[in-house]
Amino acid sequence: MPHFLSAEDFSPRSVYALFRLAGELRARQEPPKLLSGRSVALLFGEPSTRTRLSFSLAATRLGAEVLTLDERLTSRAKGETLADTLEVLALLGVDVAVVRTSEDVIRPPALSPSVVSAGSGTGEHPTQALLDAWTLYEAFGRLEGLRLLVLGDLRHSRVFGSHARLLPRLGVRITAAAPRAWLGREEDLPGVAERVALEDVSLEDLLASADAVLVLRPQWERHAHSADAPASPTPASYLERYGLTKARARALRPESRILHPGPVTWGVEIDPSLREDPRILVRRQVENGLYVRMAVLVAAGGNFEPCGGGAVAGEGNADVEALGGDLPPSFEPPVREEGNRAFSSPFHR
Ligand code: ASP
Repeated sequence: MPHFLSAEDFSPRSVYALFRLAGELRARQEPPKLLSGRSVALLFGEPSTRTRLSFSLAATRLGAEVLTLDERLTSRAKGETLADTLEVLALLGVDVAVVRTSEDVIRPPALSPSVVSAGSGTGEHPTQALLDAWTLYEAFGRLEGLRLLVLGDLRHSRVFGSHARLLPRLGVRITAAAPRAWLGREEDLPGVAERVALEDVSLEDLLASADAVLVLRPQWERHAHSADAPASPTPASYLERYGLTKARARALRPESRILHPGPVTWGVEIDPSLREDPRILVRRQVENGLYVRMAVLVAAGGNFEPCGGGAVAGEGNADVEALGGDLPPSFEPPVREEGNRAFSSPFHR
């Protein structure tokens, strides 16, 4: 069974295959029960609204048996490790485990359901990056050559951890900007084209040259544990110093777009008056999350066979090209990879 733990588990071609499947699922009133006979466990050890609900709805609509576990009410609260918990799920016949954890890296044991990360500590949030990529792709009709400004708490954001591992491989040029205390280390995410401290640059200039800006929430809940806490900005002064104010948003071109993975703390990282700005895609991101997570769950535990044989996934490395089938021209990935196999879509068997 494939695991989806990092944005690196998605090849560029599989990303476009997932976009296509997500689009097909969205177009259907009644999604086909592609997970019928499968069980999906949701194991959440940190708060979540969008991710948890969308995974839960996605699994239900695809016909899976859904088990919702509050980590505090499992033996995790007695000190059982995540790996041991996953083994228990596998022994009980669970096919897919959707995991949110405070640990930065998820390491499934040898005997494990297929694990889909729903966010791991300050490490990664791969399905968020995937749904943001789809939202950008829909808005611009391409990803190749897009200039994305990521603005906010880079150092503690798992969302950024996945964007930096996914989007550059799809041709997106990322400029990452943060208060100096939250810049993080360049060598950790080498795919990022440019990383700048907001104290050193004009945010207006950065906004003026971006096709899209992805604003990140300051991860206040993680700062207490962080060595740089004393130098951190405070909520009261954040918007004026570093955030997307109404005045700064004027520097963004009318055709540019604003994204945020949510939850938005209006008045801290974004001015509340921008809630209804025509350039903001926050609601679309939430909607898209459902279909992207449906597609990922199908890939993780779906009832489909790759044509021509061969494994669906290698070692922890998701190969979901099975979903691609014959991609229509608009879904042809601009990045060609060697050794792609032809697979059939679950819709076209
Ligand atoms: N919802 C995202 C996450 O879980 C972003 C955030 O909380 O700021 O990482």
